[in-house]
Amino acid sequence: MRKDEGTATTSAELRAHNLARLLRAIHDGGGQLTRAELTRQLSLARGTATVLVRDLAGRRLIEELSGVADATVQRARGRPTGVPSSHPQGPVALAVDLRDDSYTVAAFELTGRCTVLDRQERDAGTGAGVLADVADRLRAASRRFAGRVVGVGVAVPSPVNGGTMVQPTLVDWQDIDVAAALGPGRAPGPVLAGNDATLAGLAEARRGALRGVSVALHLHVATGIGGVLLSGGQPATGAHGSAGEFGHMPLTGGGERCRCGCVGCWELDAGARGLLRAAGQAERGDRMLQAEQIIAAAATDRGYGRALAHVAKALGRGIGSLVNALDPEVVGLSGLAARVYDAAPDPVTAGYLSTLMRFRRDHPPALLPSTLGSLSALTGASELVFDAFLTPRGLGAWSAPEQKTA
Ligand SMILES: [Zn+2]
Repeated sequence: MRKDEGTATTSAELRAHNLARLLRAIHDGGGQLTRAELTRQLSLARGTATVLVRDLAGRRLIEELSGVADATVQRARGRPTGVPSSHPQGPVALAVDLRDDSYTVAAFELTGRCTVLDRQERDAGTGAGVLADVADRLRAASRRFAGRVVGVGVAVPSPVNGGTMVQPTLVDWQDIDVAAALGPGRAPGPVLAGNDATLAGLAEARRGALRGVSVALHLHVATGIGGVLLSGGQPATGAHGSAGEFGHMPLTGGGERCRCGCVGCWELDAGARGLLRAAGQAERGDRMLQAEQIIAAAATDRGYGRALAHVAKALGRGIGSLVNALDPEVVGLSGLAARVYDAAPDPVTAGYLSTLMRFRRDHPPALLPSTLGSLSALTGASELVFDAFLTPRGLGAWSAPEQKTA
């Protein structure tokens, strides 16, 4: 018996702090860690961990499943070690991937399990109409998960400053405060907005290809190109939260004017628009879908094959320049960047090596395609919500919904 632990847990503050730490570790571990592993990771006494797990389970934040993977350990010790996981009535983060031509709404459980609820193209509607639509979908989702929604994370196609879209791709989103447009009173819980590419990188650092990487550069290509430098898993977002607009650097030359106000931007060559243009296609509807169709057809259509190779080389050239500037350990790729690299690795690599400084060429930082696929920005948006929730204050506000009687 360790008396010091007994004394420590009488402090309500310390207990709240430990509950938040434990729930955070369960979240970060994706519901895969056993109670024994969590106890070790957090340097908790076994008795303390038992009390904390019981408390979290009692509040329907988690349920403890029997640990199949630990069967041998259980036998050896003669006692069960469960796996704390999402409670079926537990907290839900809603996430929105807002694009100028479409949007997706999804629900995330505490341990990261995602259910896509809705995916819509914008068609001819206005940006304001899209936001009103999204607010409706969030209300519907809130009814569906009665009492369980702890917030809404929104990935937006714009640099953000304090939750406001400061240079969005749609004119009528200019200076829109995302939380004001979707809540309060309209969406359940706090509404937290972030740039889509920054959130995609955050998601890869926490749950994907960039887990455990010391310094990572992440590039997310959708209509344009954005990204983020992550140090120790933390995004470097600049003085105003709007760093990482790599697509608006003249990395591949050219004299054409970009929608951003600059000349010769990288995304004119290496983004979805660049691919459509190289393939001689007009933009219509969801440009990412269009771009993916071109990539899928590139193996059999010579024109599309040339367009893909052109964009792949431009992508690689830009990556080399950024690696020279930022010195990452690896480079993560999501969205169209991952698709282009998967479909045409050789021209990407050739472009990459051509711009990389000589001293780096023997050991160029690896290019790692996303392991989260189309869920990367959504996953990052859900992380914003859980970052706010997995604190003593966030948990203090949680009251489990009434269990439905059978
Ligand atoms: Zn630009």
